[in-house]
Amino acid sequence: MAIVVGSGAGGATVAKELAAAGHRVLLIEKGPEIDEEDAHRHYANVDAGIKLMRTCCLGGTTMVSAGNAMRCLEEELRGFGIDLSAELAEVERELGVQVLPDDLIGEGTYRLMDAASRLGLTARKMPKFIDPEQCCRDGRCSLGCPVQARWNAVRFIEAARENGATVVTGQEVTGILTRGDRVTGVRCGSRTCYDDLVVIAAGALETPRLIGSIGIPVTPLFCDTFASIGGVCPGIGFDRDVPMGAYIAHESSLILSHYSRQLVATLQGAGHAVGEGDVLGMMVKIADEDSGSVRETIKKGVTAPDARRLAEGSAVAGAILAGAGVEPGTLVSLPLRGSHPGGTARIGVSVDTSLMTSVAGLYVCDASVLPAAPGAPPILTIIALARYAAKRM
Ligand SMILES: Cc1cc2nc3c(=O)[nH]c(=O)nc-3n(C[C@H](O)[C@H](O)[C@H](O)COP(=O)(O)OP(=O)(O)OC[C@H]3O[C@@H](n4cnc5c(N)ncnc54)[C@H](O)[C@@H]3O)c2cc1C
Repeated sequence: MAIVVGSGAGGATVAKELAAAGHRVLLIEKGPEIDEEDAHRHYANVDAGIKLMRTCCLGGTTMVSAGNAMRCLEEELRGFGIDLSAELAEVERELGVQVLPDDLIGEGTYRLMDAASRLGLTARKMPKFIDPEQCCRDGRCSLGCPVQARWNAVRFIEAARENGATVVTGQEVTGILTRGDRVTGVRCGSRTCYDDLVVIAAGALETPRLIGSIGIPVTPLFCDTFASIGGVCPGIGFDRDVPMGAYIAHESSLILSHYSRQLVATLQGAGHAVGEGDVLGMMVKIADEDSGSVRETIKKGVTAPDARRLAEGSAVAGAILAGAGVEPGTLVSLPLRGSHPGGTARIGVSVDTSLMTSVAGLYVCDASVLPAAPGAPPILTIIALARYAAKRM
C-alpha cells in the first residue's frame, strides 16, 4: 500500500500513477471535497509579508488555477540529472494543453497584446489546459470553473479511485511515523495509518513542517512574487476574458494580462466610479529570491533585487496599459502576492533525485521540491516530476 498526504497537483498525480501501477493507495486530504465552482470559498491564504495564496480542499490549489500551462525549470532539473521531456510531453497531451482559439480571447486581452507590440514587445497567447469547447468565457477560472472546462487535480483523483484508491477528506496528517531509518506511517490526530511507502504532498507551506519535525532538512521559501496593476478603461468587459490569456516574457519578469476584482475595489476606493467591466489590468511576476521561511510562522519579504525587478516590470506594464487605453492618471497597484509557494524541501537537500528523503520509503512530491523559483506557472512541472518519481517508487 502507499499513503499520499495532500491531493493537489503533486499528490493527486502520485495517487493516480501508483493506483494505476497496482498499489493500494490511501490519499489523505485535510480539506473537504467540494463543488468546483465553490473553490473560491476554500482559499487558505497566509499573510507572510507577501500574501501567499493556496486553497485547502480536494484537488488543492489546482481548483483555482488560471489553466496556464508553461514548461519551467527544465534546465535546472537537468542539472540534477532529471530529464522531464518525456513526462512533460505526456502531461501536455493528457491535459489537452493548447492555445485558445481567437474567439475566446477578449477585447481587453487583444488591446494589451497590440499595445505591447507597438512598444516592440512580443506578446504571446498563453497555452492553457482549458477545453475551448466547454469554456463559458465568464472569467471565473480562479474562483472555480463553473463548467468543468479547466483541468484540475480531482480528475486524477477520480482516476485513482477507479483503480481502487481510498480517498479520505477532512483529515489532517499531523506527524510522520518512523522506525530507525524507515518510514512506518502517518499520524492524523489520534489516529495512525501504517505503511512503508509515504508520499508527502501537502504543499510548500505544510510539507516542510511535517518533514522538518522528524529532522529532515528544509530549505528557504520562494513564491514567484507578483504585483497587480490596473486602471480605468470604461466598458472594456475585461472581467469576462479568460484570465491571463496573454503573456510577455520580459527581461526580468513575466508580464501577463490579468484581471483582479481587488483592482476594482481599489479604484472605487480611490474615488473612480467603475464597475467590474471597466478595469484593465496586468500582472508582473518575478522569479523571486528564496528569502522566506516556513517555521512556526511563515515569513516572506521582498529583497532589493526583487523590488528592482518588480519596479522594472511594473513600468513596462504601466506603459502597455496606457497604450491599451487606460485613462491617464488612474493606475493603481495591489499589495504584493505570491501564488507559487515552493522550494521548501528541495531536490539535492531534502530529497534525492528520486524525490526520496533520507528516511527510506518517505518521499516528497509537490512544489516544495522545486530547485529554484520558476517565475512561471509550475503545475505542468510539478505533475511531470510526480510522474517521474512515481515510476521510481
Ligand atoms: C489563484 C491561483 C492561480 C494559479 N494558477 C496557476 C496556473 O494557471 N498554472 C499553474 O501552473 N499554476 C497556477 N497556480 C499555482 C499552482 O496552483 C500551485 O503551484 C500548485 O497547485 C501547487 O501544487 P502542490 O501539489 O504543491 O500543492 P497544493 O495544490 O496546494 O496541494 C496541497 C494539498 O495538501 C493539503 N494539505 C496540506 N496540509 C495537509 C496535511 N497536513 N494533511 C493532509 N492534507 C494536507 C492541502 O489542503 C492541499 O489540498 C495558481 C495558484 C493560485 C493561488
